[in-house]
Amino acid sequence: MSQWHARSWRDKPIKQQPNYQSAEQLKQVEQELSQYPPLVFAEEIRALRTQLTDVCHGRGFLLQGGDCAESFSDFNAPKIRDTFKVILQMAIVMTFAGNCPVTKVARMAGQYAKPRSSDLETIDGVSLPSYRGDIINGIDFTEAARQPDPQRMLKAYHHSAATLNLLRAFAQGGLANLHKVHKWNLGFLATNPLKERYQQIAEQIQSALQFMEVLGINTETNATLHETQLFTSHEALLLPYEQALTRTDTLTGLPYDCSAHMIWIGERTRQLDHAHVEFMRGIHNPIGVKVGPTMPEDELIELLDILNPGNEAGRITLISRMGADNLADNLPKLVRRVKAEGRHVVWSSDPMHGNTTKADNGLKTRNFDAIHKELRQFFAVHQAEGTYAGGIHLEMTGEDVTECTGGAYQISESDLSSRYRTQCDPRLNADQVLELAFLVAESLRS
Ligand code: PEP
Ligand code: MN
Repeated sequence: MSQWHARSWRDKPIKQQPNYQSAEQLKQVEQELSQYPPLVFAEEIRALRTQLTDVCHGRGFLLQGGDCAESFSDFNAPKIRDTFKVILQMAIVMTFAGNCPVTKVARMAGQYAKPRSSDLETIDGVSLPSYRGDIINGIDFTEAARQPDPQRMLKAYHHSAATLNLLRAFAQGGLANLHKVHKWNLGFLATNPLKERYQQIAEQIQSALQFMEVLGINTETNATLHETQLFTSHEALLLPYEQALTRTDTLTGLPYDCSAHMIWIGERTRQLDHAHVEFMRGIHNPIGVKVGPTMPEDELIELLDILNPGNEAGRITLISRMGADNLADNLPKLVRRVKAEGRHVVWSSDPMHGNTTKADNGLKTRNFDAIHKELRQFFAVHQAEGTYAGGIHLEMTGEDVTECTGGAYQISESDLSSRYRTQCDPRLNADQVLELAFLVAESLRS
């Protein structure tokens, strides 16, 4: 294989990139970004890799979730706080009811680039470039907004930095304190039937903390009890941005993509001989690969050969996104082959992207039952194959949205438009996420 360097992807075919009008402007932005401080630190990236090594060996569970696409306009503290709370709440249910340590990875602080099924969008006979995420162009259906603008990369960097700053403050500054576990419940969950089950867990945690106090352990000053660690992730789609944030770590001399702790390759850009795989093979972050129903077994093994030639545990997370109706036909053979070849991977389930449908009113949606079904089947396949179901990857928000149908409140297609706010794909709301958390906890226990 030819030698890797941070720009060697430029010699390969590439999909899903914008057509910037000015190569000069693009170059200037890349140059500027490459001088900016890294958003995350290599040592933190290695800490995540260590946690994922444990997950790979069945000693933990990966929870990854957040928006389909973050946006510049809907950028504020309550939104970041509420998604953070939902992640914490889900993690506490899985840790406590599932008796399993949880590695928390947000789809936040950089999830701004979107692959699209078509280069153009046509409305009433007018065709414009598709919206590709706020790091590339604007969502408004006008010629000006849809023009890709390299300056948006700088804005995405600054938004990511501010988001990360707040996430770090929440994680270390008291919001994640286990004494406040009751407060992670969001107001609108008040009538959720699962709220009582959550409150029971919160009370049990409170009693455990009191017990520790009786034993003489100061639970107010113990860092593990009032701090948490939340890692960040996004799809590494826009390679000029990812390259510009790649740094050689002074401690190890190895290259890391310091735009996030974990990055993944999407289903549409994982061709073996293309640019995205080339870029990812050389950086030392833990990486995810989306695996859809058309992935042949041989190709998956070849991909692992390229991305993880040393077969190191913690390096690769395979994120299966089959669709509830395709999973049984497609996942078992991949799981079997990876096991037969002795490959170390974390198997995670994205039960969202294979279950997208269009409601009668034209809105993109996903049905909670299909998501639930894909997840149940994912656990069943791993149980049957003697492998470990190690993670879940969700599009979710702490906001009270109506984007996915079903769930405890039976959101119907006609309810969708009341609070449909996503920039891209439909997300689970906090009620629906809590329901899934209890399902995962049960599977982890059994
Ligand atoms: C996504 O995770 O938002 C996404 C586009 O997924 P996939 O590549 O699996 O379609
Ligand atoms: Mn999506």
